[in-house]
Amino acid sequence: MIRFIAALITICSISTVFCGNSFALSEEKFFSYKRFFLNQDIAGSFPDDGKVQKDLNKFAAAFMRGLSEGSANHPEKARKSFLQARRIWPEYFCTDFVIALTYEDENKYSIAAKYYKSYLNKLKAFYSGKYRMFGSLIVSFTAGKIDSYESSYALIKTHLGRFGIDIGKVKAPFTIPEFLMPFIGIFFLIVIYVINRSWLAPTIRNRRLIKNPPEGFWVCPKCITINPILSTECTHCGKKRK
Ligand SMILES: [Zn+2]
Repeated sequence: MIRFIAALITICSISTVFCGNSFALSEEKFFSYKRFFLNQDIAGSFPDDGKVQKDLNKFAAAFMRGLSEGSANHPEKARKSFLQARRIWPEYFCTDFVIALTYEDENKYSIAAKYYKSYLNKLKAFYSGKYRMFGSLIVSFTAGKIDSYESSYALIKTHLGRFGIDIGKVKAPFTIPEFLMPFIGIFFLIVIYVINRSWLAPTIRNRRLIKNPPEGFWVCPKCITINPILSTECTHCGKKRK
């Protein structure tokens, strides 16, 4: 009886080792466009009558276009599509992962690492429930299972380690949050206005004044003082008239 139990335990542990290995995601499979696809029933199925629906349809189209471009070995085109998808729906972390893949295709590992980090950060936020409503949308949009944070971190760490990159030290790329964009636009307009008002406009005005002084006067090019035509030097700064 004891022998039988021992044999059973042995068989069980052997099969666990084998099954465990076959279930574990290989590096090649993990770092590939092929494991990402959107749930076709959901993506693109929203009636195009609301802003959110329109955005989700646009997102899905850009993401899937990127996948096919990436698989067809056009990393630059793919990245353009993915970045578009990312702007529409920044919380969808899989986009960060596939953007990293496009950089890897071009052997740009340090930029790829930044996007892997962004992916991991968002994945962590997702599991901690920070995305709330978006969380369930992410689940329904994603065909297949969502990566576990721990195994993703381990795989990415090993993978980047081959290129001498420590994922723990990598920072996610800086992106300006969408809601700040109008403020930044306004800020630049103000800067341009101030430069124009305080420097550009007066310079043009002064040049005009020097060229076309009022009749019977000349304008000092140094201090822009208007002098009577009879004085040979500037009454303000003493510069000689040419
Ligand atoms: Zn002067």
